[in-house]
Amino acid sequence: MHASILLKNRELFRRGIGRLIMMHFFSSDPRPVVVVLVLLLAASSWADLDIHILDVGQGDCTLIVSPSGGTLLFDAGWNGKGNGVVCPYLDSLGLSALDYVACSHYHADHIGGIDEVVNHLGIDSVRIAALDRGWSYTTATYEDYAAAVAPKRQTITDGQVIDLGGGVTVTCVGVNGNGQLSPPYDDQYDENDLCVALLVEYGEFDFFVAGDLSGVNSSYYHDIETSVAADVGDVDVYRVDHHGSASNSNVNLVSTLQPEVSIISVGNNSYGHPTQTVIDRLVTYSSYIYQTEPGSGGTIPSGHGEIANGHIVIHVNTSSYTVNGDAYPLGTSGIEITTLPSIRIYPNPFAKSVSVEIDSGNTEDFELAIYSVEGRLIRLLTSSKAGPPHSFITWDGTTLDGRIVSPGAYFFRFSRGAYSKTFKVIKR
Ligand SMILES: [Zn+2]
Repeated sequence: MHASILLKNRELFRRGIGRLIMMHFFSSDPRPVVVVLVLLLAASSWADLDIHILDVGQGDCTLIVSPSGGTLLFDAGWNGKGNGVVCPYLDSLGLSALDYVACSHYHADHIGGIDEVVNHLGIDSVRIAALDRGWSYTTATYEDYAAAVAPKRQTITDGQVIDLGGGVTVTCVGVNGNGQLSPPYDDQYDENDLCVALLVEYGEFDFFVAGDLSGVNSSYYHDIETSVAADVGDVDVYRVDHHGSASNSNVNLVSTLQPEVSIISVGNNSYGHPTQTVIDRLVTYSSYIYQTEPGSGGTIPSGHGEIANGHIVIHVNTSSYTVNGDAYPLGTSGIEITTLPSIRIYPNPFAKSVSVEIDSGNTEDFELAIYSVEGRLIRLLTSSKAGPPHSFITWDGTTLDGRIVSPGAYFFRFSRGAYSKTFKVIKR
């Protein structure tokens, strides 16, 4: 049971669905959380943005399809995965053309399948452009890629915004070292340092994907993640850099992105991906992990993630999203609770994005009471053991009579059965 309470700093409750939820909180309905879940799950059928993380084994492939049908394919796995996985998948979706094809960098586990996809569709079916970081690389796989995309090839630039239609934008938030490295952007650097990082935005939803973007300074890597993270901020879903390598997903990145969901694209490999270090870091920041395949490294702690053994599909509408069918609210940042009774608060209870995690095998309901510093009850919210694996309740920062509370200190009291614990949080 993975339940969570999420303090929002955005304005979900300006929306009609929010008002409906509030009406239920104010009513005498004894099970408000069930009502919230039903509303959010019903909302998920409104259909909008779809992001497909294809299972291409040890590699990457992300397909973005906007509500208006705009498409961008980012990477396509190793040689053979284009014909073996990506082309049949595009066919199954009825996609005989793509607006954009793009690649994060020129390593074979990312560009290997792109020429196969382009040749399958025909280069004229790449409607707008094949985008990459420019420059070149000295492998046969790169030569195949470059030849296939040549008629449509364009260099993506930092800050470039791609409008996929239907309210979806894809912004390049880093390329060729994000200003941290000097040209030429050739083999004087590791390809991972030079990755294209993309931020996909749709309403309140943010998705970050950056290939194998480097996160450490070493004899061959440079930490690019830290500067990119500063440009990105909080996101909902993080497509984990470099298949969960310990050289990536550094603390600065994960603590800045604060992803509710992390997705690791990985297959059988000799690198020990995904590493336990990265899995534990994501769990520490309350991220729920989905992995395409088991990989050859660390293990996700029970209750903190799952192996999909296949593709992972994110479906986003204006008020919530699902990951392989599990529902999540939008506009989330702040307090997240999993289970009782041990409570950990990090990174800092007085920071903007404080996370609270409570562990227990117990699946009874728990209650959150929010008090002012004077001890006056502001709100009382109840979770439920009902619902999907990721049930949640949302506090919109208002009082019982609907007023938005002022920034400042508040006390949160969690209780379940005989157990309770109170701590202070700062609301901004
Ligand atoms: Zn890779």
